[in-house]
Amino acid sequence: MILSPSMPAPGPSFAEIDPPARLLMGPGPVNAHPRVLRAMSAQLLGQFDPEFTTYMNETMALYRQVFRTQNRWTFLIDGTARAGIEAALVSLLEPGDPVVVLSAGRFGLLLREIAERCGAVVTTVEGEWGQVIAPDAVEAAVARVRPRLVAAVYGDTSTTMAQPMAEIGRICVRHGALLYVDATATLGGMDVPVDEWGADIVTAGLQKCLGGPSGSAPITISERAAARIDSRRHVEQGIASGTDRPASGRRIASNYFDLAMLMDYWSERRLNHHTEATTMLYGARECARLVVEEGLDARIRRHRITGQAMASGLQAMGLTLFGDQAHKMANVVGIEIPSGVDGERVRARMRTEFEIEIGSSFGALAGRIWRIGTMGYNCRRDTVLITLCALEAVLRAEGVSLPSGAAVDAARARFAEG
Ligand SMILES: *Cc1c(COP(=O)(O)O)cnc(C)c1O
Repeated sequence: MILSPSMPAPGPSFAEIDPPARLLMGPGPVNAHPRVLRAMSAQLLGQFDPEFTTYMNETMALYRQVFRTQNRWTFLIDGTARAGIEAALVSLLEPGDPVVVLSAGRFGLLLREIAERCGAVVTTVEGEWGQVIAPDAVEAAVARVRPRLVAAVYGDTSTTMAQPMAEIGRICVRHGALLYVDATATLGGMDVPVDEWGADIVTAGLQKCLGGPSGSAPITISERAAARIDSRRHVEQGIASGTDRPASGRRIASNYFDLAMLMDYWSERRLNHHTEATTMLYGARECARLVVEEGLDARIRRHRITGQAMASGLQAMGLTLFGDQAHKMANVVGIEIPSGVDGERVRARMRTEFEIEIGSSFGALAGRIWRIGTMGYNCRRDTVLITLCALEAVLRAEGVSLPSGAAVDAARARFAEG
């Protein structure tokens, strides 16, 4: 038989996407808010359509509120959270730049790796996984290295710890270093007061406390960081205009993540860089609208209370929480897997019997802890109570003896306190 374009080759046909009704209670992604999913089913617009550029401007205004910042340059990077990290680091750093990275978990290690790929000379201030890093150690390194940039993770989901950031911000101001913060797992659930911290670039993702899908990375950039980026502006030849003179600074090593060109796209200039991910913008805009509608303070309080209820329930079950509890993130908790229990079997039973996903761990903590998140749309009383019931039942089925009903009682008591 001769195949013509009008005659498609016979092949397998697959069913329409119809995923199971899972409750995602791991460290992210979590279930998206239904309003975000609805926004994402809206029809596409051209990227320079005035209706669309109005949505872009609205998205910038909304994320200024979410980041508690006045920064003009507050917009979206297309890609998952690490696209935001790469855009920030590749646009600020050039080969040979001294950088101090705070690392006490997987995402601290990621910052170090990306900074190294940029050719920076990286000094790492390390902390034990499950602890935060002492500001004194950071200040000593910064005084010695005189870095262009300090890079830190606020909430590192790999360890469930939240690094106190205000003091790190003050250290950077004292020593004239730029500060980059990865707030992927905290934005919209814990306070990320960008201007108060004096942070220069902060990035996030949607799939944690913002209750959206992964694929868009909100970013905010201070004037100081924008000036540094401007000094490296080299507009792509095919889209440059006659007035685009290359800046004296070294060209940014990535085209896709070149913040100078992205700022030109998100400004009145509307430089034709890449095609904005329309559907992701609709979703990201709705995530921020939900935050602003609920009120940032109320939302942070909801994450605090719900996270505490989950943690008290787990403790009442007789389980041990992982890490320095004084610095635990509000929205995710690590639990030590009891000895003799097969952690992966418990996760599998949670999924197959109860349709609930909880997280495992990686690196130094692989096989040692489970991680349970209470984030964004899934940060609710019912999700906590159901997850605790299910975990209790599964652990009992695995031969662990537990005080019956104690977990749910403890969580309900925490919710009752308000
Ligand atoms: C979850 C998480 C990320 C995720 O990055 P993706 O590219 O969206 O997978 C990044 N940083 C931190 C601190 C996180 O917790």
